[in-house]
Amino acid sequence: MTASDSPPVSAWRQRLAGAGLAPLVLVPALVLAAGMAALLAYLITWQNQVGRLERAAVPRLERFAMQLFAPPRRYTYLPHLLANDRTLRDALSHPRDSALVREANAYLERQRERTGATVLYMLDAHGTGIAASNWREKISFVGVNYAYRPYYTRALADGDAHFYAMGTTSHRPGYFLSQLVTKDDGGVLGVAVVKADLTMPDVRDYGGEVLVTDAGGVAFLSSRADWQYRPLKALSASDGASVARTRQYDGVLRAPLDLRTKRTLDSGAAIVDIGESGHYYMVRRPVPETDWHVNLLLPLEDVDVAAARMALLAAGAVALAALSLLYLWQFRLRLAERERSRAELEGAHAALARQHDALTALSDQLRVQSSTDSLTGLFNRRHFMESLERLLGTAQRHGEPLAAMLVDADHFKRVNDEHGHPVGDETLRRLAAVLQEETRDGDVAARYGGEEFIIALPRTDAAAALTVAERILDRVRAIRTPVPGGTLTVTVSIGLAVAGPGEEMAELIRRADAALYEAKRGGRDRVVTSA
Ligand code: GH3
Ligand code: MG
Ligand code: MG
Repeated sequence: MTASDSPPVSAWRQRLAGAGLAPLVLVPALVLAAGMAALLAYLITWQNQVGRLERAAVPRLERFAMQLFAPPRRYTYLPHLLANDRTLRDALSHPRDSALVREANAYLERQRERTGATVLYMLDAHGTGIAASNWREKISFVGVNYAYRPYYTRALADGDAHFYAMGTTSHRPGYFLSQLVTKDDGGVLGVAVVKADLTMPDVRDYGGEVLVTDAGGVAFLSSRADWQYRPLKALSASDGASVARTRQYDGVLRAPLDLRTKRTLDSGAAIVDIGESGHYYMVRRPVPETDWHVNLLLPLEDVDVAAARMALLAAGAVALAALSLLYLWQFRLRLAERERSRAELEGAHAALARQHDALTALSDQLRVQSSTDSLTGLFNRRHFMESLERLLGTAQRHGEPLAAMLVDADHFKRVNDEHGHPVGDETLRRLAAVLQEETRDGDVAARYGGEEFIIALPRTDAAAALTVAERILDRVRAIRTPVPGGTLTVTVSIGLAVAGPGEEMAELIRRADAALYEAKRGGRDRVVTSA
């Protein structure tokens, strides 16, 4: 507090400090609330957006599987057709007859063109290619032994087989269909095989990437060319060994994709990062009848951006709402402050009004006191002189008579001497009461000094004044002031003068005084009118 602080100022200071302290507490609270709102908005939005991706993902996966796997299944009839074809059976029966084999190759070539399958070929009873639709090509299956391939072994065991597998020569996945070819006597003549390549369906409208992976996690089909033939993660030792043994990816296998699972969702889907290329929502489905998986990867960048945007929006909204509340609160505080100071002002005003009233009363009292004689209650000499001046002026203006009477107690010194001063005072009060009672409204009776009184009687001529004087004399004679052992009587002498035209006040009083002197000289207890 500085030296100049008065108590009200320091009270204001405290209130202001109270209002100023609030932001210190509110700002961190506001930041916290905005942060919480942002986090909540981020999580909810993210969850919603991922839910939306999740709902979109499953139908896309199913559609993809349909597009990928349905076409090759059309060829189910084809191995059977080949197994019963005379030309092919002849070639299988006489594999060294080059004319028959050529005819078989040509037949297979024609059938391939007609059906759209990838390769049609005939293996002999030992699994060696005898004729093939690709006989002209560098990678011709003619002369190659496929006895180790399941479509051969299973056909031998069960009569026919069909399944998906990687092509060992082409490194392309396909649907393999095989049918045992038997001699008329039931002996094994060979196996007819149809391979229909799986072709990557168009997934441009999927909003993401699709991968088909094998048991070891190698993406053998991919919507992104640079992800093909890459394992999702580094291959395990056994998967590595298996890949090497089956020579499935000889010459095409590339470095792993470095897929890192960040989080697994309740649905089984996962949030993953792939190398530096991004952040994905990943959902996978096993492909029936295989150990393959179809994987759909939907980028999360948009989700992250949308969630961040909502977080910002929520933080902004909370901050705005909180600031509005804060403003409102401050506003109310200021209103209350204003109301308080208004009440204070009103209080001060009321106090001033009360003070004013008291002062007015006091001044009235003083005014009365200043014009009144305290002992008798009559006007004092000063007030009388003012009144007489005014009354005399009025009387002379209107040509009216005005009488002045001096009334003096007779031998009053003796009263005091014989009965004491208090008895003198009481007698003076009784005298005053008589004068007051015997004068009219408009007359002014006053104590002129000591035991002497004076009366102004407007519109009163000498005769009328004389009557008044006589009445006063009578009333005074009747006064009985109690004194120890009896009562005290008193008399007064009266000097009367009626103002002449243009007569000065002093002259009027002097003539009344002279008349009084005559009354005293004449024996007292009488009235003398000035000539
Ligand atoms: P006179 O008839 O000639 O007027 O004689 P007097 O004694 O009345 O006149 P004087 O002037 O000699 O004395 C006036 C006396 O009045 C003197 C004084 O003691 C008394 N007196 C004046 N004022 C007061 C007062 O206020 N109270 C009392 N008790 N006595 C007063
Ligand atoms: Mg006297
Ligand atoms: Mg006297």
